[in-house]
Amino acid sequence: MKVLKFGGTSVGSVESILNLKKIVEGQQEPVVVVVSALGGITDKLINTSKLAVAGDATYLTSYEEMVERHHQMIDAIITDTKKKNTLLATVDDLLGQLKSIYQGVFLIGDLSEKTSNVIVSYGERISSNIVAALIEGAKWYNSLEFIKTKHKQGRNLFSNSVSNPLILDVFKSFKNGTADHKVCVAGGFISTDSVTGEVTNLGRGGSDYTAAILAAALDTKVLEIWTDVSGFMTADPRVINTAYPIERLSYVEATELCNFGAKVVYPPTIYPVCIKNIPILVKNTFRPEDKGTIITNVVEEDEGRAIKGISSINNTSLITVSGLSMVGVIGVNRRIFTTLAENGISVFMVSQASSENSTSIGVTDDDADRACEVLNKEFAKEIEMGAMYKMKLERDLATVAIVGENMKHTPGIAGKLFGTLGRNGISVIACAQGASETNISFVVERKSLRKSLNVIHDSFFLSEYQVLNVFLCGVGTVGGSLLEQIAGQRQKLMKERNLQINVVGIASGHNAMFDRNGIDLEAPLLSPQGEKTPCGEFSIQRLREMLKQAPASNMERLKEEVIGMNIFNSVFVDCTASADVAGLYEAFLSNNISVVAANKVAASSDYDNYARLKATARKRGVKYLFETNVGAGLPIINTINDLINSGDKILKLEAVLSGTLNFIFNTISADVPFSETVRRAKEEGYAEPDPRIDLSGKDVIRKLVILSREAGYKMNQEDVEKHLFIPQSFFEGSLEDFWKNLPSLDAQFEKERQEVEAAHQHWRFVAKLENGKGSVALERVGERHPFYDLEGSNNIILITTERYNQYPMLIQGYGAGASVTAAGVFADIMSIANI
Ligand code: ADP
Ligand code: ASP
Ligand code: MG
Repeated sequence: MKVLKFGGTSVGSVESILNLKKIVEGQQEPVVVVVSALGGITDKLINTSKLAVAGDATYLTSYEEMVERHHQMIDAIITDTKKKNTLLATVDDLLGQLKSIYQGVFLIGDLSEKTSNVIVSYGERISSNIVAALIEGAKWYNSLEFIKTKHKQGRNLFSNSVSNPLILDVFKSFKNGTADHKVCVAGGFISTDSVTGEVTNLGRGGSDYTAAILAAALDTKVLEIWTDVSGFMTADPRVINTAYPIERLSYVEATELCNFGAKVVYPPTIYPVCIKNIPILVKNTFRPEDKGTIITNVVEEDEGRAIKGISSINNTSLITVSGLSMVGVIGVNRRIFTTLAENGISVFMVSQASSENSTSIGVTDDDADRACEVLNKEFAKEIEMGAMYKMKLERDLATVAIVGENMKHTPGIAGKLFGTLGRNGISVIACAQGASETNISFVVERKSLRKSLNVIHDSFFLSEYQVLNVFLCGVGTVGGSLLEQIAGQRQKLMKERNLQINVVGIASGHNAMFDRNGIDLEAPLLSPQGEKTPCGEFSIQRLREMLKQAPASNMERLKEEVIGMNIFNSVFVDCTASADVAGLYEAFLSNNISVVAANKVAASSDYDNYARLKATARKRGVKYLFETNVGAGLPIINTINDLINSGDKILKLEAVLSGTLNFIFNTISADVPFSETVRRAKEEGYAEPDPRIDLSGKDVIRKLVILSREAGYKMNQEDVEKHLFIPQSFFEGSLEDFWKNLPSLDAQFEKERQEVEAAHQHWRFVAKLENGKGSVALERVGERHPFYDLEGSNNIILITTERYNQYPMLIQGYGAGASVTAAGVFADIMSIANI
């Protein structure tokens, strides 16, 4: 024999209730079916009472809607006219009683607890009749007759001693196999008082409990809970979209999880079946083929994972009882808990420091004020004497629990947990771990709850996939190319590296759009007429259009949105050249958001600013990466870092770091004068819009400063010695004058060029770090020099270190271009994901 319980969502729609029929009729053995009210009906019954008691006549409309909902359901699922009429007579009779009660409440304007209990019972009374009529050969059982409660401390508690004999009696023939039916159907949740016979219930979500009670009393083989998810999941699936079903749980683990808010099973459900060792199977009515979760007394290693699941309660208040007189005093804790218990306040978490001068207690928000009040009263004398402080109340908190019986065999779980939270900037307000080590609970600010659940889920259940959330600022050539690369790699990264990259924010200079679930990079664009333009794959033009239609943005909004989203594992990517955007890094890093910059402004700014950014990143356990600041995608900065981290010392750097200047000096010839090469560099997109930034060496100086700093030298831009190859006057006037005057340099350049050619040399604009000093200059290199053959806009760097001394290390390749730069940014992003 089995007990099958179907929740509100499993009887909420025509589709689900027909699934229920199929599932029950497919059973080989006798079954007891326990059902909830039609999904949402219990809430509606309560809300309608509220309208009625408030004298609001629309309670009638609300009531009529419930009538309509039940009638529609019956019409859709029961085809046999005779059956339908019999059922309708029963249901309409119940609905008629309900209407009279509501009328009474409306007229008298009073709603006692007793009346409320009667009202909510109609949900299950009606649904159970519908299901009994729907299932072939089923018999309806009246739960009000055999589920009995006793009134204690203002609450109705289930009475096992009264109910058990009644259940055994009512189900006698069914249990001993002499009954004429194979299926019994009973309403969950509802009960009656064992003394007065008044209608009561087992609490919201209590249908699970009814089912467990029946399973225990009848000693069934299994208790099946059929719901709308494929089992107990690793976390609440409405918050964590990467949560997945857990195959096996022990009773202890399941209890810990549902006590802390995993609503899938009502907490009292587990005890009655646990003591009888009856397994609980949680199954999905909509996907019966899924395995679901089996809960037994066995603790199974789940692929070596130490924790099984995470759950949370979001309405937590924390009361701290503190004072010097508490140290070593016996009995303070007894007084705290006795006082709270006597006032019917339940405590779900306690944390006491070993110094004993404070105890923090987690209670629900509803109980918080009263708990403070009664504790202040209890310790009034001590507070007056100054031996204790008044209760401190902190609100707007949430409690998270991580659960797993294998935690006790696995060292380092708490370390990993708190390390993960810390790295993501979440501070833990209180924590507790029971000596049984099956649960670690901690309290955080409510606004950090979602983020906490995400980071923990991500770090403990990595085997599914890890998520990295990217904010991108700048959708020019580099930013556009980066998005294209992310869109192209996403599926592969997910499949092969278990990494999901979500672009959660995109901003241009004027607009910004955000979506914490990830912006759909393939989203169809709505034309101004509201039609969807055809698409299917990433297009940067379309994205730029989407961005134009997004809300306007500025630096302040960008900062607020990115920080305000408080999203886990996040990285801000700067593909602009803006000093304003660079000014936001400090705030992002301080909020545990990593920064990847193609923008050189911050790393080459004043040394103290650079050092502060690096220090903030280190302190916060996040990364500030800017590999593409020098040599685009070439691994220059990473290599320097690796050398230093492994104990080497950088002695000298020599490099050609300007793609523009290299292009110019590779292009200049007898036929192409100097001024023309500058013009071409600009036309071909190598140079900055104002080529003087390149020609003045400024760009190279910034790069040299960044490299020197990474090599361990304290250097600012003004410390770099620069040898200009164009007279200073050219940099002083307007851009127009500059272009106009440029040809006047051609003759001198041609003269020198002939000398260089005759000597079999090439011009290279070289940046150098030597003996701690930086310099940039136009040099002539001979055929045997490693810089001699440097094509097009390529970059090259020679690194001389203590280890690479006689033969310096050489890195060479494309040093400019949107796609290689974007690839370098992508590589930085990937190194943050750390896969
Ligand atoms: P029913 O109506 O079947 O009793 P409930 O709504 O009471 O269903 O419980 C199922 C819901 O519990 C799921 O739809 C899910 O949103 C929620 N839930 C919360 N935490 C968890 C969890 N850890 N695993 C599965 N479901 C969970
Ligand atoms: N119908 C009740 C409720 O919504 C009981 C249940 O569904 O378990 O709380
Ligand atoms: Mg439920």
